[in-house]
Amino acid sequence: MLEFSLTPATSPRPESERAQILSSPGFGKHFTDHMVTVTWTPADGWHDAQVKPYGPIQLDPSAAVLHYAQEIFEGMKAYRHADGSIWAFRPDQNAARFQRSARRLALPELPAEDFLEAVRSLVSADADWVPEPSGGEASLYLRPFMFASEAFLGVRPAAEITFCVIASPAGPYFAGGVKPVRIWLSSEYTRSAPGGTGAAKCGGNYAASLAAQVEAIERGCDQVCFLDAVERKWVEELGGMNLYFVQDDGTVVTPELTGTILEGVTRDSILTLLDDAGHKVDERRISIDEWREGAASGRIREVFACGTAAVVTPVGLLAEPDGETVIGGGETGPVTASVRAALLDLQYGRSADDRGWMHRLV
Ligand SMILES: *Cc1c(COP(=O)(O)O)cnc(C)c1O
Repeated sequence: MLEFSLTPATSPRPESERAQILSSPGFGKHFTDHMVTVTWTPADGWHDAQVKPYGPIQLDPSAAVLHYAQEIFEGMKAYRHADGSIWAFRPDQNAARFQRSARRLALPELPAEDFLEAVRSLVSADADWVPEPSGGEASLYLRPFMFASEAFLGVRPAAEITFCVIASPAGPYFAGGVKPVRIWLSSEYTRSAPGGTGAAKCGGNYAASLAAQVEAIERGCDQVCFLDAVERKWVEELGGMNLYFVQDDGTVVTPELTGTILEGVTRDSILTLLDDAGHKVDERRISIDEWREGAASGRIREVFACGTAAVVTPVGLLAEPDGETVIGGGETGPVTASVRAALLDLQYGRSADDRGWMHRLV
């Protein structure tokens, strides 16, 4: 197992500045005083594990990642509980997914215990940056990532890889309270094809989704829904969130995992929480016609999206080139609201963690 050396920041942000940032952190705008780096080479494997001052990474202009996008990442959060302790939610799932993403991108796998220790070491060095719970939804967002840092131009898996973890304090995703989002249905672009990288959490998937995201913004929408690449008929997911559909009989449907959808930790957790709440949960294919017609007829009462960053987000509208469909009167539905609350209660230690999903960091 890796041992992380600690080089404390010589000029950490003064307490007053940190307090000011934590009072209104936004999302992904501010970073803590430290970062983790670990290097991999074929000869030495993973080595040189460090927690060191946050700062720029020196990269050769020929570094493979800049040309061939051999890169993966994770997204998770550290939550402060009322007694001051700091916890992660199912970090073993992020560690396992990081390994699956690595295999798909021909990157070396980081052992799960080293992934967890990297996260723990950083949060412990920057514990003061984990916001107080104070009834809100503030957390420290953690971003582990790995990329091809070898300097060479040539198409083969790189022989030098850098793993990093950085951390960014995050306020509630919805500053003015939870508000249903408007979704643009991308008919031109897809994000994922059979045999492609859709199930891996890699930057390339996001790069490929940006043109559709621009289109969404131009149409007054917040996010994009992508369909399958073969039939252009089956609902897959948003650019960075999985989808759920609540039917009028209480059954909740989510698109089944077919290898082209990212396996969200939130998605998986919600399957369990819905089952606990007595809902029938169906993992199956759902077509865009079923969504459109169901929302119009009332057969589909609620739609919500889920992911670590925004937790659970109600979807109020589906916009397409030739029309719009309002979902659930454009309001947040009761199932969406209760799943959201159940998840947050667990993450902030306000409800019993019967499944051992919470993992203490500090
Ligand atoms: C990260 C991500 C999600 C959500 O995953 P969580 O583990 O719930 O945060 C969903 N879809 C895509 C494409 C993602 O990259």
